[in-house]
Amino acid sequence: MESTLKRTWAEINLDALKYNYEKIRAHIGPGVKFLGVVKADAYGHGSVQVARKLQESGADYLAVSSIDEAMELRSNGITMPILILGHTPKDQVDKLIKNNITQAVTCEAKALEYSEEAVRCGGTLKIHIKVDTGMSRLGYICEGDYFGHGVEGILNAVNLPGLDAEGIFTHFAVADEPGDENKKYTDHQFKLFTDVIKSVEDKWQKKFKLKHCANTGATVLRPETHLDMVRPGLLLYGYGEFARMLGLKPVMSVKTTVSTVKIYPAGTKISYGGIFVTEKKTRVGVLPYGYADGFLRALSNRYEVYTEEGFAKQLGKICMDMCMIDLTDKMSVDVGSEIEIFGENNPVEKMAETAGTIPYEIVCAVSKRVPRFYKENGETVFKELLLRM
Ligand SMILES: *Cc1c(COP(=O)(O)O)cnc(C)c1O
Repeated sequence: MESTLKRTWAEINLDALKYNYEKIRAHIGPGVKFLGVVKADAYGHGSVQVARKLQESGADYLAVSSIDEAMELRSNGITMPILILGHTPKDQVDKLIKNNITQAVTCEAKALEYSEEAVRCGGTLKIHIKVDTGMSRLGYICEGDYFGHGVEGILNAVNLPGLDAEGIFTHFAVADEPGDENKKYTDHQFKLFTDVIKSVEDKWQKKFKLKHCANTGATVLRPETHLDMVRPGLLLYGYGEFARMLGLKPVMSVKTTVSTVKIYPAGTKISYGGIFVTEKKTRVGVLPYGYADGFLRALSNRYEVYTEEGFAKQLGKICMDMCMIDLTDKMSVDVGSEIEIFGENNPVEKMAETAGTIPYEIVCAVSKRVPRFYKENGETVFKELLLRM
């Protein structure tokens, strides 16, 4: 087991997570609540450990994408409020109620079926109404001609039996993109959102306890959008330009060790397809890290890993379980040497840019066979390997 764990692993710095949480809290001020987005296994960081740290640090809410993700947290001792952002089938409503899980309500049909089910099982389902203000994904459409119809639909939902409309939210499409046009688009989404809320609350004669819309970009740049609660994901994990603006720390690093070192003459083809051919005598290291661990194959022959002697080029096609690197001028890097794939010395943002993607996708791609080592004060406090053993 220990040997498996030292093949390729991810280090999750819980101190950095706590630091980021506190920095964001200081940024939003005391009047605003904090929802931590921990969907997709907390962006690959491990949702149970991340949620535990947030719970003990005093966060107010968590969000996940599905009931399975919510139940994983409940079965592991997470008692704080959890919002499901995505769809839950109606036959699971009793489970939501029993486990005190809050459900997003995204349209009239769902409001009706959730209400019916809640009444049938004699409970009350806590809901947050989702408004589509321009993301064009989930939520009541309220744009333009749809405004009156949207408001009416929401009003119907909040008055249905068996439902407790605790909150209302929307999601920004371009709050993290630069430029004036994007700023205008976000302004428009925000104005539409607050207009909808006002119209509903006036007619309802009640107020939503939690109005929220600020994702990472809006949390950092748009204090006017904070309302009752912010809802960042990526920011919490310390990646991207907005994290840098607040001086946050990256939470995850992925590391591996050199498994084999060999010397090849000039003219040798390395890996599948032979897209890399040595030009001179080359000292090649094999790393037990491939696309099944989350090393996007699109990075083949284009990435550099970090060694104790600096950056080393990755050579040829990335395989499922392995890849090769050039150690020709790095004689002290040998079998067993530790290699940083991304982390403190090799920012994940660079890896994402080289692959033509975003840091979100890189951290979510770190696969379940990569064990997570949770660190506090430089010590490993917990290890987790999500294989069926
Ligand atoms: C994923 C998600 C977030 C968090 O987005 P970040 O860009 O990571 O801050 C917030 N709200 C909703 C509805 C989401 O789906």
